Amino acid sequence: MRTDCARFEERLADLLEGRADAETAQHVAACPACTDELARLRAMRSAFAHPWESAPADVIARLKGLMPSAPRRVARLLSPLGLVGARTVADDIQVVVGDRDVSLRLMVRRQDEGYTVMARLPEGGWRVERGGEVEHIGDRFRFLAEDLDATGFDLVCDDLRIEIPPLPRLMQDESEHPD
Ligand SMILES: [Zn+2]
Repeated sequence: MRTDCARFEERLADLLEGRADAETAQHVAACPACTDELARLRAMRSAFAHPWESAPADVIARLKGLMPSAPRRVARLLSPLGLVGARTVADDIQVVVGDRDVSLRLMVRRQDEGYTVMARLPEGGWRVERGGEVEHIGDRFRFLAEDLDATGFDLVCDDLRIEIPPLPRLMQDESEHPD
């Protein structure tokens, strides 16, 4: 009977939808391989029918990656505090970054192993996302950037995402558009 499997393969979908003929149903009932295949089809179909309820977290994350991204804004340097010059990197740098309605005072501190970036989050459910680890402590966050080019991150709140560029880019933007 196993050689018959190919013949029934296309009819399995019909069986799933309750439109199978008696011959197919009989074959599947007696054939472990087709029973497995039917179970696989059923699982696949239910995953597509309810992707947000039944898909595992990593599948959801991958699907979200394929979807059009949320509105994204790019923050700029609002006020350089204690910033000596665009090319000088002091041990402690404080800058205010943001855009029209969100801003935060960013502290960047030089460490042996890189730069600690920290700030108080704006009010209203914001969090920080970046390629590496971020520590959220109450309304504050901090992370260790391996170098200045890694000091950028995303400020995320619901559907809104604000990109905070790394310090060198913030400084460069500032020197290109002084106002
Ligand atoms: Zn079979």
